Amino acid sequence: MKNAKPCSVIPPKDQLASYKAAITENPNNASNNELSILAVGDYQKLWKPGRELKIRFLEDVSSSFVRAFSQAITHWIKHANLKFVIVPKGDADIRITTDSEHNKSLIGTDALTFDQNEATMYLETTPSDEYFESTVLHEMGHALGYLHEHLHQDATIPWNREKVYEHYFENYGWDKQRVDENVLTPYSGAIVDTEYDKNSIMHYEVDKELTDGVWEVGKNTVLSELDIKMAKRTYPEDPDDVPWKNV
Ligand SMILES: [Zn+2]
Repeated sequence: MKNAKPCSVIPPKDQLASYKAAITENPNNASNNELSILAVGDYQKLWKPGRELKIRFLEDVSSSFVRAFSQAITHWIKHANLKFVIVPKGDADIRITTDSEHNKSLIGTDALTFDQNEATMYLETTPSDEYFESTVLHEMGHALGYLHEHLHQDATIPWNREKVYEHYFENYGWDKQRVDENVLTPYSGAIVDTEYDKNSIMHYEVDKELTDGVWEVGKNTVLSELDIKMAKRTYPEDPDDVPWKNV
């Protein structure tokens, strides 16, 4: 059994504030059209394409950490029409704490609903870790508004549920509800027309000991073709171009 720490998504504190922030930032987030390609949740939490996102670390981090972090996120920036600026102080859209035992993040515009002194992303990984880059890419994927791929409605993973509960409790202390929310229960409430993508950076590693003994997903460490396609569709070069919304 491999031991990379699983990520969990931070839910919004206030659902209505979450919705209002999402549609104020980017009115296309409100789409609930059946053909909306990203409707894994009830509404999207994508930033306005072309916008600048300020990132601030809540603690002092070394310049080598910032360099490694910046290097990692270039893989998203190459394909998503967004600008990232790391600011030393002042207001920031994404606040990162490295004083953490977990890797986790809010989804996209939910960050707008948290106070400026509150972290919107937690990183326990450091540049010396083998999976630093892939962990940063995964957490930044959440910060861009993307959800867990293994919870895609079409994933139909043949989980051995009892083993899954046991594994996450014994290794990470997760209770049943946390496992249900982060591992076992597919997103509902919307039609998805993006293909399920086993290679997505947003997919958990799945050990075959937790499934029917055959089905498994290895550790995804780079953006998949469909991740790149998603970045291009959700943050298109022309901000008025919204191919993910069927109007
Ligand atoms: Zn995650």
